[in-house]
Amino acid sequence: MAKDGRALREEAAAAVAAGKHKRALAAYTELERLEANDAQWPKRAGETYRRLGNLSNAMKLRRTLNRRGSIFQSTSDTEVIIHLVATSNRANMLDRLTDALKQVEGAYSLVVLTDEGLVACRDPLGIRPLVMGKLGEATIFASETVALDVIGASFVRDVDPGELILVNDGGIRSFRPFEKVAPRPCIFEHVYFSRPVSVVDGTSVYEVRKNIGAWLAREAPVEADLVVPVPDSGVPAALGYSQESGIPFELGIIRSHYVGRTFIQPSQEVRHLGVKLKHNANSALIRGKRIVLIDDSIVRGTTSVKIVQMMRDAGAHEVHMRIASPPTKFSCFYGVDTPERAKLLAAQMNVEAMRDYINADSLAFISIDGLYRALGQERDGNQPQRCDACFTGDYPTQLTDLTEADPDASLALVAAR
Ligand code: SF4
Repeated sequence: MAKDGRALREEAAAAVAAGKHKRALAAYTELERLEANDAQWPKRAGETYRRLGNLSNAMKLRRTLNRRGSIFQSTSDTEVIIHLVATSNRANMLDRLTDALKQVEGAYSLVVLTDEGLVACRDPLGIRPLVMGKLGEATIFASETVALDVIGASFVRDVDPGELILVNDGGIRSFRPFEKVAPRPCIFEHVYFSRPVSVVDGTSVYEVRKNIGAWLAREAPVEADLVVPVPDSGVPAALGYSQESGIPFELGIIRSHYVGRTFIQPSQEVRHLGVKLKHNANSALIRGKRIVLIDDSIVRGTTSVKIVQMMRDAGAHEVHMRIASPPTKFSCFYGVDTPERAKLLAAQMNVEAMRDYINADSLAFISIDGLYRALGQERDGNQPQRCDACFTGDYPTQLTDLTEADPDASLALVAAR
């Protein structure tokens, strides 16, 4: 009897946990076949891929591959890598994968299950995280340490930027096939993307978020009665702001745990409804008070408008908004699903116009230098130690698809983001 996707996923996970790579590969291959509705990607026999991040030259490579006769089954960047591997003339799988990855630009944390073993690789800049863990005899790779905690695995170490690790019956071997460059890990992982209990590049996400709140209190103090987080991602920064300023921390907004994140829901209408379903004001606490609202970021501004209005409707005397990241003025092309630039509020308005738009009594963002200080660093303006492009426009790779694409491809890129 044919197995369904869930059974195959469970079989693959159990096989990985037991260190049975070939059995896991068979289950994943069958799962991929099922999910792709019988479409066959041009992989050599026995390879399956999982990827985090986005490539910034995928369309250029896709056009080149198309001209050479490659036929694509999806819009996935992973398929570009697969075609590059499939068309490489190198002898063994590791060399073919290395050959493929030397042609791509952008961010990727990649895990490939092959006949020759499990391969994990992080892009040379280390934009997206990748960690290695251990569960019994099995070696586990995951984007965050929290994923290891969930399955009871222990953390071994980060996969280094530009490192390629092969795990098979011969043990664990590390390779460094790329030219060494200064790493640029994504700073937004610490602000929003990672779970607070994770440790990213050796640093506790929770502690960094509290530090960001403390720096924000130093940079943008305000007279107020309560510090109120926008749940859940604003909570650690609000604790830091409260502890630094001495203003009491209170849960003035209660979040329903049954509604998904508004940030990634597609339509404006759904986002508007989502905010109302997701958050409720604690009116008995808020009424007559001067509130400092702490949120992680302002992207389109939709949520901020609703939350400030919610505080006013609940009887807040003043509403001061403080944001735990600098203004988001640029799109991300490395796998964080920010909208195109035209929809970013900070790309259209200065801070005073944004304050007016969200109807707050005051609005302030942490500075880019303050954000680095919260991470224990001084930002090097000539060569930033992290990717901070969505705040500064200083992209760590070329944006080939934006600068070289034909008009149709460029539009497709915008739509895809
Ligand atoms: S552009 Fe922003 S979100 Fe994207 S990788 Fe860089 S810092 Fe992270």
